Amino acid sequence: MADIIHLLPEAVANQIAAGEVIQRPASALKEILENSVDAGASEIRVVIRDAGKTLIQVTDNGSGMSEKDAEHCFKRHATSKIHKVDDLFAIHTLGFRGEALASVAAVAQVELKTRRRQDDMGFSIQVEGSKVTKKAPCQILPGTILSVRNLFYNVPARRNFLKSNTAEMRHIIEEFQRVALVNPEISMNLFHNNKQLFQLPEARLRERIVAIFGPGYKEKLIPLEQQANDIKISGYIGKPQYAKKTRGEQFFFANKRFIRHPYLNHSVENALQELLPGDSHPTYFIYLEVDPKKIDINIHPTKTEINFQENQLIYALLRSTIRQSLGKYNITPAIDFDVEQSLDLTPPVQGKPIKNPFQRGPVDYNPFGNHSPRRKDACSPSSPQGWEKLYEGLKNIPEASASKPDAPECFPQGEGEGRTVDFCQIRQRYILTGIKSGMVLIDQQRAHQRILYERFLSQLEQKTHVSQQALFPQNVTLSPSDAGILREILGELRVIGFSINHLGKNTFVINGTPAGMKEQNMQDLMENILENYKRNMVELNLEQKTNLARSMAARIAIRPGKQLSQQEMQSLFNDLFACHIPGLTPDGKKILVALTGEQIEQLFKQ
Ligand code: ADP
Ligand code: MG
Repeated sequence: MADIIHLLPEAVANQIAAGEVIQRPASALKEILENSVDAGASEIRVVIRDAGKTLIQVTDNGSGMSEKDAEHCFKRHATSKIHKVDDLFAIHTLGFRGEALASVAAVAQVELKTRRRQDDMGFSIQVEGSKVTKKAPCQILPGTILSVRNLFYNVPARRNFLKSNTAEMRHIIEEFQRVALVNPEISMNLFHNNKQLFQLPEARLRERIVAIFGPGYKEKLIPLEQQANDIKISGYIGKPQYAKKTRGEQFFFANKRFIRHPYLNHSVENALQELLPGDSHPTYFIYLEVDPKKIDINIHPTKTEINFQENQLIYALLRSTIRQSLGKYNITPAIDFDVEQSLDLTPPVQGKPIKNPFQRGPVDYNPFGNHSPRRKDACSPSSPQGWEKLYEGLKNIPEASASKPDAPECFPQGEGEGRTVDFCQIRQRYILTGIKSGMVLIDQQRAHQRILYERFLSQLEQKTHVSQQALFPQNVTLSPSDAGILREILGELRVIGFSINHLGKNTFVINGTPAGMKEQNMQDLMENILENYKRNMVELNLEQKTNLARSMAARIAIRPGKQLSQQEMQSLFNDLFACHIPGLTPDGKKILVALTGEQIEQLFKQ
């Protein structure tokens, strides 16, 4: 029998390797940007066309390459950054495997123009599917221009796998931001389809953050600074009151490299625990500097997952650092600060629940006021904060009186004073009502969304089974990928109250819906819920339960245009203020606007 093992041609081997390094336009951009940083550039300009599918072009004013290096750089394992095995353990540059350009050139049409400062002429080389197609001298300023055209032109399976331009562009922006956040001293610009998306002049870190995320950030950041046990921590943490509903701006960098580190994220959330409202997440930009020998970066080719040898020490140090800073900037009660001054570095045991740092004594300062009406006792009535002001006394509202539906409901207020509550619906969209301190205007759709979200979430968490509303069975047929997702969340949908079964292939039958839900076209409903669900999954990386609760709430909530009766408004109002966070929708939109008596008086002063 003939020998059957043969060596793959280099182009094929490169293409296979490329799969590991270059998954999408954003991963190509990341590698190219990192090369520009490694080359010592002080200015980088990125031009993107069609979310990187047609063109990714990076121009830098870095070291440039000699003619020979320009030819070599596309070969696999061609790198100027490591020479021997030992170098692997002391990496200070971003790239080092010498794989990136070889990978990009295997799956795209690439043009490199480069010139070193000491050379009079530049050199240009074109490579297509790993083959050099053209070489020539060229005129160019010192530095490098790398243009990557038609990524995956020769790997249709990958090209088809790319997401919409919006989704791919989001990844590109993410990578651009990550590089920009570790290199504030480099001036960076990003253009997409001739539109400038970012113009980031050379700056200090704080200004860079503001330049990227908006002027609102000027007020939001508390600096972090710590150096102990050979570990340096710096950066900023967002004030807890600006925490977001989604895990948006959370950045860890280790030795100038963006990393993901759920364990350290836990440390941050733990440090802020009592200061964050229920389902919100802190913003942070945290930079760690650790001896490279104590990091194993090599565990993943795209290198965002890394492991520290001293994980637990870093966890404890980070938590203390954050609490110290909060204390210094008066965000946290002094009582905690005093204890934290001593820098308690006992590491928690990984995997075990971690003690709440704020359990000692009452927390007398909470920048949010107290959100939850269930914790009314925690709020001093003489100085109500935030929402507390709004639902002062509301606990006494009785259920809407069913016996006299048309009469305005009366209920006693705190000190025995009587008051009449009327709800007024404005433009079939907003609910207006008086409250003790003034008046409040509520967006009916958003309020309902919040109520449903909390209800679904608690059902999902407690697995309480809810009664279902019988329905004339309706079949729903979905695309194979949607059907796959639906199968995954079938159990959760049942907990929420759907009676739903898989009929085989991509078809499902729905026999019942959650109590209180109006009968409607199930095909539309499911498609819509799945649409929301997928979007949340891609954009926000939400946990399954949260995602489902949100998607359902968004889909099912009453819309503007729905006329509501007095009782309906009353119960919406009561349910809203029984929520943990009555003021914001799950995705962070404002639900209500309140005016105090004084504010109303002000409006009439003139
Ligand atoms: P790595 O960065 O891992 O060394 P790459 O494939 O990304 O591997 O790059 C190969 C080599 O090409 C680098 O080591 C560097 O010497 C050179 N190079 C790449 N991009 C640039 C650039 N923009 N300016 C100067 N040299 C570059
Ligand atoms: Mg590189």
